[in-house]
Amino acid sequence: MSEKHKQRQQKLKETVDAKIEAAQEEKGVLLVLTGNGKGKSTSGFGTVARAVGHGNKAAVVQFIKGTWACGERNLLENVGVEFHVMGTGFTWETQDKEKDTAAALSAWESAEKLLSDESIDCVLLDELTYMVSYHYLDVERVIQALNNRPKMQHVIITGRACHRKLIDLADTVSEVKPIKHAFEAGIKAQVGFDY
Ligand code: ATP
Ligand code: MG
Repeated sequence: MSEKHKQRQQKLKETVDAKIEAAQEEKGVLLVLTGNGKGKSTSGFGTVARAVGHGNKAAVVQFIKGTWACGERNLLENVGVEFHVMGTGFTWETQDKEKDTAAALSAWESAEKLLSDESIDCVLLDELTYMVSYHYLDVERVIQALNNRPKMQHVIITGRACHRKLIDLADTVSEVKPIKHAFEAGIKAQVGFDY
């Protein structure tokens, strides 16, 4: 039994080693974190923290501003991460389409500047997917900026229901699947855990 296990592990190791050997390219990765479960933005911010921890330069654009302060912003701004926050509340709380579109465009212009800045290693576009699905932003304009960004720049896009074209363009896509969520059991969103 233990000999069989050893053989199996050896085979697995060979396969993994061959894959590691084959993966030689270095380039900026486009990561999409989508799906309806909890953990997309926290994962995006975790990647930003990872970049900063290695001395890399990171920046964040938040396309939906919640009504609460953002814990990650309080922390990351102190270590030099530039933040741009869209100047409206949650989109489903506002009814003024023109105002929302103007706010989305202004936030997107900040994103475009970051996506053309060689000095930024990692850009988090938090909740960008909604700007495309609400038609505040043209998906082709987003794709163009992503395609023209510096070769080594990593970009993370978060939000539910990501546009198919952005999923196709991305190098890595993860879908966070809700199994259960505390909110459904009447537990409210709490500071330091949910925001
Ligand atoms: P987080 O910021 O915690 O990583 P997220 O980015 O994956 O969450 P969003 O859709 O951006 O999720 O929602 C932000 C807020 O909504 C968070 O406070 C989160 O706890 C809550 N939330 C996320 N998923 C669910 C869900 N399936 N049901 C209810 N609330 C949710
Ligand atoms: Mg989020």
